[in-house]
Amino acid sequence: MNVKTRIAPSPTGWLHIGTARTALFNYLFAKHHGGTFAIRSEDTDRARSLPEYEEEILAGLAWLGLKHDEFVRQSERVERHTELLKKIIDERKAYVSEEESKNEPGKKVQVVRLKNPGTSVTFNDLVRGDITFDTTELGDFVIARAIDDPLYHFAVVVDDMDMEITHVIRGDDHISNTPRQILIQEALGAPRPAYAHLPLILAPDRTKLSKRHGATSIADYRNEGFMMEGFVNFMGLLGWSPGSDDEDFSLEQLVDAFDLSGVQTHGAIWNREKLLDVNQRWMRKLSDDEFIAQGSLVAPDEAKLRSIVPLLKERAKTFGEAREMITGEFASIFTAPTPDRAQLMSKEPAEFAGVTALHLRAFGAQFAMLHEGMSVEEMKSILMPYADAIPKEEGGRGAALWPLRYALSGQERSPDPFTLISILGVEESSVRIQNALDILEG
Ligand code: GLU
Repeated sequence: MNVKTRIAPSPTGWLHIGTARTALFNYLFAKHHGGTFAIRSEDTDRARSLPEYEEEILAGLAWLGLKHDEFVRQSERVERHTELLKKIIDERKAYVSEEESKNEPGKKVQVVRLKNPGTSVTFNDLVRGDITFDTTELGDFVIARAIDDPLYHFAVVVDDMDMEITHVIRGDDHISNTPRQILIQEALGAPRPAYAHLPLILAPDRTKLSKRHGATSIADYRNEGFMMEGFVNFMGLLGWSPGSDDEDFSLEQLVDAFDLSGVQTHGAIWNREKLLDVNQRWMRKLSDDEFIAQGSLVAPDEAKLRSIVPLLKERAKTFGEAREMITGEFASIFTAPTPDRAQLMSKEPAEFAGVTALHLRAFGAQFAMLHEGMSVEEMKSILMPYADAIPKEEGGRGAALWPLRYALSGQERSPDPFTLISILGVEESSVRIQNALDILEG
C-alpha cells in the first residue's frame, strides 16, 4: 500500500505543541513506510482563519524538519464540496432542510442534513483497538450550513477521499467525530482510511496542557533557543516508546524506529525538565564553532567567547540561556569590572582589618607561577593551598577566595576564580587584581 498521511491544522491560531506532535507522528509514519506526508490548511472558518497563522504554522513545521510533499488549502476546494453535497442530495442520502438560523433568529437558512441510517458503527483504531458507537442518537446531523458552506466533518471526509489519505492519525479528542465521518464516507461511497488516535498531551498535574503551564506555541520554544533536534527528539517520545531504553533519536532515527504499535493510550506528560535535558544533550554534540553559530552567540571578544563555550555547554540548556549567561554571569569576562570597596572587604573579620589587600597581593605574587595553557585544575592546585592555610578565626579560605573572585569579576555571581583566571589570562587577571588593590588602598 502507498501510505499517505496528512496534518490538517486550522489556521485560527499559532502552531501549538499538540498539533506539532501530531504532525511529527504523521510524518514519521508516512516516511517509515516510504509514503507521502501532506499538509491541509483547514481554513473554512472564514471569520477566524488568518493567512498569518497559516504562514506561521508552515514555518513552524518547516523548522521541525517536517517537509511536506503536498499542500492543500481547504477553502479552495469548496466547489468540489458543493458538487458532492449535490450528488448525495440527488441520491437522497442527504437533504436540504429549511430552518431558523441559530445565529440570526428569525432568519431562514437552508442547511444540509445527512440521512442517518442509524446503525452501530465499529472502526478499528490502530492505537486503541475496536471502537463501537451507536449512531442513532446523532439523528440526521447537519453537514453544511448552506450548499456552498460545508461543515468540518463533510470537508474532512471529501478532502481525505480526494487526497487518497490512507491513515488518519490525529488527537484522541477526535474519536467522537469519527462515527459521523464514517457515516459521511458511506454516503459518498468513499473508502475508509485507517484511524490512529493519539493520546493528548497533558501537563505534569495531568490536566489539559494550557498556557498557565508555560509556553504552548512552537514559536515560543524556537525563540527560547531550543534546537530543532532536541525539540523533535523530545516530542517523538511524547506518547510513543521505542520499546527500549533508547532516548536519543534524530528525526531520521525516529523515522526508522517509528511504529504505531509503540503509541501509548494514556496521556503523554509534557515534562519541561526532560525537554531541557534532551535539548542540552543535542547542544553538547555541537562543535564549539557550531555552538556559537547555531546559538547566534555574540560577545565583544571572539577569542574569549570561544574559550567559554565549554562552560556554556556545561551550564546552558537552551541557546537563550547561553545568551543570557554571556551578558549576565559571564559579562565580566568581556568587560573589566569596577569592584566595590565595601564588597571587596566584606569577608574580612573586623579584628583583621586590611587583610584582604594582603591576600590579593599574595595571590598576585603567586600568579608568577601560572602560565597560559595551564588547566583550571593546575591553577587551582597552585593557588588553593594559600587559601586553605587561612585559620578559621581569620575568616578561613573564603576570606581570600571571595575577594579574589570578586576582584576578577566584580559580580556576586560568576564562575570560580580559577576558571576566570584561565579564561582572562594571567596578564589581564593581574591587572584586575591590581585595580582592586588600588580601590582598597586608594
Ligand atoms: N482541523 C482539524 C483540527 O485541527 C483536523 C482534524 C483531523 O485531523 O481530522 O483538529
